[in-house]
Amino acid sequence: MIPQDYHIHTNFSADAKPSMAEMCERAIALGIPEICFTEHADFTPGDFCSYYFKPDAYFQEIERCRAIYGDRLTIRAGAEMGESHLFPYETELLMDEYPFDFIIGSLHWVRDELVLSREYFEKRSKHEAYQRYFEELLVMVRVGGFDVVGHFDVVKRYGYDVYGPFDPHEHEEIIREVLKACVEVGIGLEVNTSTLRRPVNEPSPSLPILRWYRELGGDIVTLGSDAHELEHVGYALQDMVELVKAAGFERIAVFENRQARFVPI
Ligand SMILES: [Zn+2]
Ligand SMILES: [Zn+2]
Repeated sequence: MIPQDYHIHTNFSADAKPSMAEMCERAIALGIPEICFTEHADFTPGDFCSYYFKPDAYFQEIERCRAIYGDRLTIRAGAEMGESHLFPYETELLMDEYPFDFIIGSLHWVRDELVLSREYFEKRSKHEAYQRYFEELLVMVRVGGFDVVGHFDVVKRYGYDVYGPFDPHEHEEIIREVLKACVEVGIGLEVNTSTLRRPVNEPSPSLPILRWYRELGGDIVTLGSDAHELEHVGYALQDMVELVKAAGFERIAVFENRQARFVPI
């Protein structure tokens, strides 16, 4: 059984088409008991999703779907905040005004450069490209304000296309520093399977990073498909339960009103 899918986009995100109701029906058909809609909340100039998210309409639709599907599916309200450390005012406003259950903090940009592009890698050495990403992620985690880091090493998505496989051991020091900061402020990791659908073909993060997080005392893990399409709901999440167990975790986290609770796996 897939226990949860805590990273799903709908047409409240600029880059996804399915409706919330369609995603709910898909999750029910797959027997997933709990999902979270984590729409892009982006403010970075130039981002495709910048200022697209409409929270009033989103929460209305959440309530409508809870009324229809609530007896078969637990529906959590979430957002995937991009570069939240650079937009403290916008982030705080959104968090204070709306009853979110769960917030993912994601780094898609390092300053004015999108890391989800070949260009970011072609401009600099492999080492520098990865190092810069994790250094910026460290700043984002230290500022905090979210519950889990989204796709922790997503920078490998295009890094792989330019430089081949990503070896976290080559950046172990800075990665451990980010993980330590996560543990200190109580931020978790999600295991994201969108990178399994790309040539890089491994989850984000992969097993060594999950193990390091566990070793350092981290205990908050969620599972997310990062579905932007119906057929990706729940993608490979059953396998991720096994991965998380292999990393030393015996439970995953569920969130309500930004509070974590743990369920055994
Ligand atoms: Zn993302
Ligand atoms: Zn996403």
